[in-house]
Amino acid sequence: MGSPRLGTAERPLWVAIVGAGPAAYFTAEALFKQTDLEVRIDMFNRLPTPFGLVRDGVAPDHQSIKAVTRKFEKVSADGRFRYFGNVTIGRDLGREDLLRLYDQVVYAVGTPADRRMGIPGEELEGSHSATEFVWWYNGHPDYADCEFDLSAERAVVVGIGNVALDVARILASSPAALAKTDIADHALERLRSSRVREIVVLGRRGPAQAAFTPVELKEFGQLDGAAVVVAPADLELDAGSRELVEKDRAVRRNVELLEGYAGRETREDGERRVVFRFLVSPVELIDDGSGRLAAVRIERNRLVRTEDGSMRPRGVGEYETIEAGLAFRSIGYRGIALPGLPFHERWGIIPNEGGRVVDMDGTRYPREYVAGWCKRGPSGVIGTNKPDGAETAAAMVVDCPGLAAELPNRRPAAEIEKLLAERGIDYVTYADWQALDAFEVARGEAQGRPRVKVCRVPEMLEVIHEARARRRTEERGREVTVTE
Ligand code: NAP
Repeated sequence: MGSPRLGTAERPLWVAIVGAGPAAYFTAEALFKQTDLEVRIDMFNRLPTPFGLVRDGVAPDHQSIKAVTRKFEKVSADGRFRYFGNVTIGRDLGREDLLRLYDQVVYAVGTPADRRMGIPGEELEGSHSATEFVWWYNGHPDYADCEFDLSAERAVVVGIGNVALDVARILASSPAALAKTDIADHALERLRSSRVREIVVLGRRGPAQAAFTPVELKEFGQLDGAAVVVAPADLELDAGSRELVEKDRAVRRNVELLEGYAGRETREDGERRVVFRFLVSPVELIDDGSGRLAAVRIERNRLVRTEDGSMRPRGVGEYETIEAGLAFRSIGYRGIALPGLPFHERWGIIPNEGGRVVDMDGTRYPREYVAGWCKRGPSGVIGTNKPDGAETAAAMVVDCPGLAAELPNRRPAAEIEKLLAERGIDYVTYADWQALDAFEVARGEAQGRPRVKVCRVPEMLEVIHEARARRRTEERGREVTVTE
């Protein structure tokens, strides 16, 4: 008699997913949708809280985007799913543990590092990555103790992607508007006393090459107490850019919106101003003599067409200095290498073929997969992870029959809990997270906000421990009633 077929009731496919952001959840959802597959999924996450960038990256004034968590809640409620939060792979559990206990392992760990500009002065006080700022105002525990000195009058944001717009918008928003969101309390308090009055957003290419999207750009026209400033000269397009405007609807919409802003009377009564500049690159961050940022030196660019047809910026040797006490580089993210797995240094991703991990010369890492930003790079919106996760899931399903013969009959259900307990890991279950979630939402209700986040891991665990104790008391109470 041969071994039972993998993915059947007799021998379910056991999958470990590392990460609990959109890519992790969309991969799990796609696996659960397979009609002819008995699958069990254990999801491991470094933070106690799930949902990755939806909780820690999406701007607090973009609550509607966070509605996607309802889909993830549905996946989490599936009887075939378990959540293990507060578990760091590489410390609490090794890659070897996962490969020993599970049939397949998916890494959906995102791209947590930020890219550097590589110009003098990047280390000055007052110069930050946008990532740090975003995580700080969203209450990510690793950044809850960051300090942002908002006493300067002018801030510069480098890059013209959607993250740059998030940073500029949060700096330009009125504290009264932010106080209605789930922004971290420490950030709200600091932003209330912010003296930043002008935010200058710098694009190294022109408006037709901007990476931001029209919906996000349009919001600047509706900000309370903030004016948008665009110099008409910055919107003069070369022939290549005009072609792009004609071809691409989103590009056309971006340019129309910017033209609308350029045509507006600048509202001098606005408390704050957001200034968009194009075809300029920072070349140096200037020291005030005490290690603090005093100004940003920029060079004007022109666009040149490269061999692959893309339009790249080239400095023309004309310089300008913008006084600024704050600078945020928002020029993209990169992945970080995971122990034992290959890493593409230049692209900052885990090399893969349609989600199957391969090393740099194309050799497969059997049973290991990737999904999301660590698979394809930091691009696209949250929904982009749905087809991306489905592609990875499809590859896993195709590979499944080939695994049966070589794998023993695994039962990680009890083993993983035993292993974590032996190692003294205080892992967080989905029920634990639901208790923390309810606690945050209740605190928010009292203030007319969607939630008030708990921003430190020990405090999260305290709330969770109290809820566990309450659940145990209730269960004991029920047992007593039944035996009586
Ligand atoms: P992004 O969209 O890749 O934009 C990066 C920007 O940085 C580009 O404008 C790029 O210009 C510029 N840049 C790169 N290197 C530079 C340098 N050395 N000097 C000056 N500028 C430089 O990245 P992102 O803004 O981090 O966003 C990541 C992804 O998340 C995107 O897909 C974005 O749409 C998504 N996101 C979506 C939302 C939303 O939907 N509301 C919110 C946030 C993020 P070049 O084009 O010239 O390279």
